[in-house]
Amino acid sequence: MPELLAGDSPPGALSWVASRRIAGERAKPADVADPSVADNLGLLLARIHDAPAGLDGLRPFRRRPPKGTFGLPPAGLRDRDGGQECEDGFVHGDFSARNILVSHGEISGIVDFERSGRGCPVHDLASVYLHEVLLGEMDGSRFLTGYAAACGARETVDDRHLRRHLREYVCWVLSWAPAVWPCR
Ligand SMILES: [Zn+2]
Repeated sequence: MPELLAGDSPPGALSWVASRRIAGERAKPADVADPSVADNLGLLLARIHDAPAGLDGLRPFRRRPPKGTFGLPPAGLRDRDGGQECEDGFVHGDFSARNILVSHGEISGIVDFERSGRGCPVHDLASVYLHEVLLGEMDGSRFLTGYAAACGARETVDDRHLRRHLREYVCWVLSWAPAVWPCR
């Protein structure tokens, strides 16, 4: 994470922050397709989720489409598959290759914490899984194994829990589609 140097949120004006520069460039799909990068990405995400900072004061985080989108509250969002209950923790909120910096084939930094908040950390796993595994070339099992190993015996990744967050996230993305790609 880049070191925060200064920042301000003046009323009626844009907020800003300045941080120390991290060497590297935004990861490309080919970068995260590297097995060692997939391993390290899981480990790094586990460390972010285990960060000792308190959760008090963090805004709530949830990626759930507005009620009534597509005429649902979507059947696909019902917790019909069971699985582990959501946890209370820190969520990066936009964890995927576009917010990962790489330098000489190794991860050099994680950026863009502006959407971070307090919620279920499994959302970050779903974000990586959607962007880099389902839509990309990353080895999902290596990423999830790296994550679970870094968490030790504390937890493993529950498949049904991950699928639940994947459905929520995909529906949330689709709820924005008409605004981003309006019909002509
Ligand atoms: Zn959850």
